[in-house]
Amino acid sequence: MIDGWQVDAGYLTGAVLFIVALKMLNSPVTARRGNLVAALGMLIALITTLLSLREVQQMNMAYIGAAVAVGGVIGLVSARKVQMTAMPQMVALFNGVGGGAVALVAFIEYKIAFDSGFKMDSVPLVTAIISAIIGSISFSGSMIAFGKLQELLPGKPITYTGDKVVNFLLLAGVLAMAVMGIVGQPSVALISGLLGASLAVGILMVLPIGGADMPVVISLLNSFTGLAAGLAGFVLSNTALLIGGALVGASGLILTLLMCTAMNRSLENVLFGAFGTGGGETASGTTVGGHMKSYSVDDAAIIFSSVQNVVIVPGYGMAVAQAQHVVKELTDKLTKMGVDVKFAIHPVAGRMPGHMNVLLAEADIPYDMLYDLDEINSAFPETDVSLIIGANDVVNPSARHDKSSPIYGMPILDVDKSRTVIVIKRGRGVGFAGIENELFTMDNTIMVFGDAKQVVTKLVGALDNF
Ligand code: NDP
Repeated sequence: MIDGWQVDAGYLTGAVLFIVALKMLNSPVTARRGNLVAALGMLIALITTLLSLREVQQMNMAYIGAAVAVGGVIGLVSARKVQMTAMPQMVALFNGVGGGAVALVAFIEYKIAFDSGFKMDSVPLVTAIISAIIGSISFSGSMIAFGKLQELLPGKPITYTGDKVVNFLLLAGVLAMAVMGIVGQPSVALISGLLGASLAVGILMVLPIGGADMPVVISLLNSFTGLAAGLAGFVLSNTALLIGGALVGASGLILTLLMCTAMNRSLENVLFGAFGTGGGETASGTTVGGHMKSYSVDDAAIIFSSVQNVVIVPGYGMAVAQAQHVVKELTDKLTKMGVDVKFAIHPVAGRMPGHMNVLLAEADIPYDMLYDLDEINSAFPETDVSLIIGANDVVNPSARHDKSSPIYGMPILDVDKSRTVIVIKRGRGVGFAGIENELFTMDNTIMVFGDAKQVVTKLVGALDNF
């Protein structure tokens, strides 16, 4: 058993480790260790909690140990097995479970207070009710997000006439029940109804959002879970939960807003705009106007034989093709030929934050070859070849000048300013935003059609001749 200052010291250590870990997650170089530091902080907080609660001593510690072991093994196995492309749905699942746990804790605290004659002060009562609502919304919303990304549910926005009115009425019902729960007679039926209605809000809130917008939604729901966990920490007087929840809530919200800014869309447009082609799929086959110059891989290889610098721009198509390892081979080959190779990373390339960074790190491409949009854009006019591998929206020049474009104002990589642009993609399909890309028909652009992995593999082979 521990008490007083020992508990405070345990929680403080955990909280400091969480903050240090967040700082380390800022850079790919330290991110791995950052995760371990955060896990250590969580372990310390967990042990502190277990050792500080008298009730836990009376319970069967074996049950708690078994639950931790089962949860730990599930977490470990799934984290090791998950494909990089399936990461968003995994985050959705874990986030949803967190929200569900918070809602259950709030419900149980309420039930315990109810069974013992309802001696709950008003501040913990309000806090418990709010965390029950937010936790439930986060749970059911995350499960729908998981279903969409896993293609268990249709990725397209699911809408119906009057859906907004239904959502509004449901939300009003939740608020009314919350007020009754705070000022009216205590009732377990009421709090159960509140949980049920909040679950329905989560489902109906996420159904009308397109599958490809799910990463933004998950980030927002993650922020909700953090907020709910922070409130639960308040109800339980658990400082570590309070601080951890606040950190998750704030960082989730910051990430959500950063993603919206990078896509030049408002959060309102993401939540209510029913935007996107759905399911994370590109609308391959939709043709873009104008004439595209199609080159063979061998012809493209000839261009590389006489260049001094190349900027590679990876996009969603590289992730789909799982081409990162052959891209590494291409990088090595070009470097050996004396070519200066850089990677331009757009903040929303792919389908989740840091998607390209993670894939390139997996292929052991050195971090110092990766340049952010702000760092690389001024270099394009001096670039011999920009090699676009499965990217589309993030290199669409219409974002700069076409006010009618849905991506107008989104910062893009100015690859069109380089001397030659080589684009690898399977066909004439559009990207996530579903719009044509004038880059593909520009005079300095050539297209090499095919699956990114196959084309880059052939290109590496063709460069052997130089
Ligand atoms: P895009 O979705 O704009 O385009 C991807 C392109 O890849 C398609 O045009 C497709 O063309 C091509 N492609 C697909 N499969 C293959 C393959 N196997 N081999 C070669 N090419 C392939 O991707 P970007 O990365 O440029 O842009 C990301 C988009 O996603 C942005 O609009 C962004 O706003 C959005 N988004 C990003 C999020 C994030 O966090 N990163 C979150 C939510 C949305 P074709 O079919 O002809 O092959």
